[in-house]
Amino acid sequence: MDSALNQIVERIRAATADATPLCIRGGGTKDFYGEALQGDTLDTTALQGITSYEPSELVVTVRAGTPLAELEAALAEKGQCLPFEPPHFGSDGTVGGMVAAGLSGPARASVGAVRDYVLGATLVNGRGDVLSFGGQVMKNVAGYDVSRVLAGSLGTLGVIAEVSLKVLPVAPAEATLEFACSQADALRLLNEWGGRPLPLNASCWFEYAGAGALYLRLRGAVAAVEAACTHLGGERKDNARAAADWQALRDQQLPWFDTANGPDALWRLSVSQTAPVLAIDGNAPLIEWHGGQRWYKAPPDQASRIREIAHAAGGHATLFRAPASNIPRFDALSAPVTRIHRALMHEFDPHRIFNRGRLFADE
Ligand SMILES: Cc1cc2nc3c(=O)[nH]c(=O)nc-3n(C[C@H](O)[C@H](O)[C@H](O)COP(=O)(O)OP(=O)(O)OC[C@H]3O[C@@H](n4cnc5c(N)ncnc54)[C@H](O)[C@@H]3O)c2cc1C
Repeated sequence: MDSALNQIVERIRAATADATPLCIRGGGTKDFYGEALQGDTLDTTALQGITSYEPSELVVTVRAGTPLAELEAALAEKGQCLPFEPPHFGSDGTVGGMVAAGLSGPARASVGAVRDYVLGATLVNGRGDVLSFGGQVMKNVAGYDVSRVLAGSLGTLGVIAEVSLKVLPVAPAEATLEFACSQADALRLLNEWGGRPLPLNASCWFEYAGAGALYLRLRGAVAAVEAACTHLGGERKDNARAAADWQALRDQQLPWFDTANGPDALWRLSVSQTAPVLAIDGNAPLIEWHGGQRWYKAPPDQASRIREIAHAAGGHATLFRAPASNIPRFDALSAPVTRIHRALMHEFDPHRIFNRGRLFADE
């Protein structure tokens, strides 16, 4: 075992022995997400580097403290990428944080989420055991697929030391189209287009200066992208400019996301793609994932109404960015799912030293 991993194991064993809660931390770019941080910081950034990369196999294995930007640059050199476009939310994001947060970017509804690309992982559990799950190929799953459950676990199951990820070639062609339309028309168009063989990759609707605009990103073979542009119409945007805008959307840097000077929190609703316009008061939402992900700016105390509306639309609501309050960040899961999650947490981390209270404030 190398010294960086060994130090982490020793730290965990010591924390277990004297029941000290630990707060696992990579670059800290997702500190705002989830319930408040608790415990002594356990820094993962010494776990550095790409340990194996086989471009012809479309698999990369990387240590968890490696900056996300470094991984993406190494993939780009070989014409490959992480297709789920993980949000960075700052320059220091790490690969481990990306998996633990389980957040995926604009292309998620078309290509899948971070969890769909996790092939294997090495985890240090709450007893200080170093465990390996999965492998480096897609078809390796025998028994329970633990490496994927790590996506979205927010560090509650253990310290992710290394992950193997499936990667894909960068698409040969890309185009972004803009359509002036209302929210209701955007949802109707997205559902109509979703049922056709179009190379849809990402979509985004929001209001700018009082007028609604829908942006559609197409990715795929040159002929497919060109044919779709001709067929769909709309205004074709300059690719370099559009790429900067999609990146700003991914990292919530578009002016729409600015809540700094208002009383509002940022709510994330994950709903059925076919859900209609939702009756949430105030500003119009920003809609992604062909209707499946809807961002709202609304006061935190609207929680119960917003959650009711999200449930009725087949989904759930997360208080994504907000000042400290006693309103739970994550929606309550069903009782059986909660039981499974809690049982998993206690199995991996019996003394509950990792990221306590990060998913359930009452822990
Ligand atoms: C130990 C543990 C404890 C946890 N505790 C909690 C908790 O208390 N509360 C909590 O909220 N989460 C908790 N989680 C995370 C939880 O299990 C899920 O990962 C999370 O709720 C999924 O939400 P998401 O929207 O981020 O995931 P996503 O996979 O991004 O979204 C799932 C939802 O998106 C929609 N969807 C799925 N596929 C598509 C698609 N192709 N296009 C459009 N929409 C789609 C569906 O409506 C689905 O409900 C816990 C996880 C672990 C491992």
